[in-house]
Amino acid sequence: MTEANTLFLRLEGPLQAWGDTSKFVIRRTMDAPTKSGILGLLCCAMGLSREAARERLAELNGLAMGVRIDRHGTRWWDYQTVGAGIGMTTAGGGLKTGAQGTLITRREYLADASFLVALQGGDAKLIDDIATAIASPKWPVFLGRKSCPPSVPVLARPREDESWTNPAGHDDLNAALDAIPWRPRYRADATLQNGMVETLVEWRPTSEGDVAPDDAEVWYDVPVCFDPPVHEPRFVLRGTVSPTVGEALQGATPAMPRPRADYTKAEYRKRREERIKADAGLCVFCKSPGPRMTVQHVTYRRAGGNETLEDLRSLCGLCHDAVTMLEYGLGMGLDRINPEEPRWRALIIQKRAEILKFRSLEARRRRLTAEEVE
Ligand SMILES: [Zn+2]
Repeated sequence: MTEANTLFLRLEGPLQAWGDTSKFVIRRTMDAPTKSGILGLLCCAMGLSREAARERLAELNGLAMGVRIDRHGTRWWDYQTVGAGIGMTTAGGGLKTGAQGTLITRREYLADASFLVALQGGDAKLIDDIATAIASPKWPVFLGRKSCPPSVPVLARPREDESWTNPAGHDDLNAALDAIPWRPRYRADATLQNGMVETLVEWRPTSEGDVAPDDAEVWYDVPVCFDPPVHEPRFVLRGTVSPTVGEALQGATPAMPRPRADYTKAEYRKRREERIKADAGLCVFCKSPGPRMTVQHVTYRRAGGNETLEDLRSLCGLCHDAVTMLEYGLGMGLDRINPEEPRWRALIIQKRAEILKFRSLEARRRRLTAEEVE
């Protein structure tokens, strides 16, 4: 029998936002919780300051994370003005004035989403310590942003009568995410497609020479340090599981909500397809046809469904990952990297090379050995 090795979290609330920790003028959310967001939540529960977290992050990062998207939620934007020309109060109590005037920020949220998160690995004691902390958190926990409180207990039991961890243990994250029943929330809840629910599972090399699959996504969300925020990449594989369907959640009578008319993903998808077609299906940077052809926003000014063709550029998955990583490190505003501009060329090439290197376990092993030597 596998020993208890998995902790389940239920993330549900009116709003959630799983973005990077950047200070962008525009803050978007990923479609599922990030590792830095989840570890931040654990640190809150355990009462670890950013400074104290530093000591524990390596251990916590050792837990592999899987996410099941039980409800996607509806994307929603808010619009904030900061300062209004009278200066901004800083965390230290000072007043920040300057030529900047009113700062406009836009933030994106997922409304009414629900995620099942499985954390696996470490020893039974670590899992138990975390579970105890979440059951009785030192500081309030939140779903990615402080303005996003959870609406149900975050610590999820596999079944009401069971302990925090599944006593039988789980072979891997997919088995864990498959073991918990999925419960409908709406009348004719369409989340479950042919009995399957989407998952995002961390990919790790299991033996020397293991290379991440081509369709693995790079998520730059493994926290090395919270203050200042430093992140490392990890691989995430999208897939599905087919859990049993449990009883409907209490009050499961509302109809499935539809996205607001002014924020339709369909419009954006249409514009994205048009852009890729206009670029002859090729990445504007490396001229390859993929894999994972996508588009880069060169500006977020009309993001959310009002994009023009000029706002987008076709990129292959690798170039897009490279550009995204570059943007993480630069305090950019609404206008983003345009991969066609010569000034980005050398930087993008360098990042692409870094990603390719990261994709090889051999390179990782060599890097680790080199660090030991130092
Ligand atoms: Zn490319």
